[in-house]
Amino acid sequence: MVRTRFAPSPTGYLHLGNARTAIFSYLFARHSGGEFILRIEDTDRERSRKEYEEMLLKDLEWLGIEWDEFYRQSDRFDIYREYVDKLLQSGHAYPCFCSPEELDREREEAQRKGVAYRYSGKCKRLSPEEVERFKEEAKPFTIRFRVPEGENIFFEDLVKGPIVINADDFGDFVIVRSDGSPTYNFVVVVDDALMGITHVVRGEDHIPNTPKQILIYKALGFEVPKFAHLPVILGEDRSKLSKRHGAVSVKNYREEGYLPEALFNYLCLLGWSPPNTEREIFSKIELIELFDLRDVNSAPAVFNREKLTWMNGMYIREVVSLERLYELALPFLQEAGYSLEDEEYVKKVLDRTRDAYDTLVEMVDKLKPFFVDEIDISPEMWSKLEELRSFEVLSLFVEKLKERDLENPEDVRSLAKELQKELGVKPKEIWHSLRIALTGQLEGVGIDILLSTLPKERITLRIQKVLE
Ligand code: GLU
Repeated sequence: MVRTRFAPSPTGYLHLGNARTAIFSYLFARHSGGEFILRIEDTDRERSRKEYEEMLLKDLEWLGIEWDEFYRQSDRFDIYREYVDKLLQSGHAYPCFCSPEELDREREEAQRKGVAYRYSGKCKRLSPEEVERFKEEAKPFTIRFRVPEGENIFFEDLVKGPIVINADDFGDFVIVRSDGSPTYNFVVVVDDALMGITHVVRGEDHIPNTPKQILIYKALGFEVPKFAHLPVILGEDRSKLSKRHGAVSVKNYREEGYLPEALFNYLCLLGWSPPNTEREIFSKIELIELFDLRDVNSAPAVFNREKLTWMNGMYIREVVSLERLYELALPFLQEAGYSLEDEEYVKKVLDRTRDAYDTLVEMVDKLKPFFVDEIDISPEMWSKLEELRSFEVLSLFVEKLKERDLENPEDVRSLAKELQKELGVKPKEIWHSLRIALTGQLEGVGIDILLSTLPKERITLRIQKVLE
């Protein structure tokens, strides 16, 4: 059975690139009827933070990525110790007593010669007696993996194609630090093997680690999984997407009022597209059905915020149900302090205005006139009102409103026509007068929508304030 995993380090907020890795790994598991595992990689005690772990889980849940099993590496140190012992016993690993200063000297030497640095292997040649003596002296040591010299390590990457790296490029590497903590390249192998991971899906920045990991799989007698390294995501300027490009964490987009289903959909299209279609909007169920690692592009994808915003608007306008929009919008409207007791009214407002905004933050601003009766009219807008014969228009409007109900935008437009005829004013004078009186602005959601949605008493109240 296919088993994939997402293995974030809790050292920061979930970045869009990592979110896409999680999505691809998740989709591939679901597509294959397999299982998806979440593993928190927190062996780096200094950089890992509990609050980042909590936020990672929250972001993944928000995006709709469910996991079947959950692990945390800091709960598994005993297991790692067992496998370190195995490697020491079989001679695939050895203690290294070189001090940081000695290693620095080796590094400087390599630099001076202009060659790539790799560990000299000095401690590989220590006799058992020397090792014993150093241990008795309590000399700090790391544990290194013994890399076979000159060996070519080959793997067939599912995205990048065949890759060969020579073991001499990296040399004997550390698998346990001097404080006793195991390193990423080692624990990732133990975990992926014990957790039965069949496909390792991750960012291409891990390609140089893969040959090291393959050597450990082989040394421990584990089966080597398949690898799929995803290309990086670039900003518009073609450099790696980073904070320099603005918002890059899932948290940012959640707070800015992007819909999880829209972000999920958009991230899927960064480096993947289903064959034979120009379509771009897909439900999660469709994505599960269509997704295949085979169709992932090996070239980098470019993140385009405008496109994401467009897609978010599409989801708000056309894709999500009114119920869902209500559920997503509510926390934003609450945060703004709008009164939301009348659920039916809130839903009516949302239903009639959903083509007016692309994000939920924009929605809060656009919907203010539907929820807040205190209208701020600037001196500039006052003088506009005075220019426009507004007072006549507004008085007659209030008068006529007494005898009728405005159920829909057409009712508002026919009432406006009547006013136009009776007063002999231009349409602009009517619409601008109403707009300023009701919202204090000349722009915003259609005034016919506002007037046919807002309760009559509240319309009258706002107009009367202007006429006073
Ligand atoms: N913790 C590693 C990272 O966040 C995981 C790499 C992997 O998937 O093997 O980059």
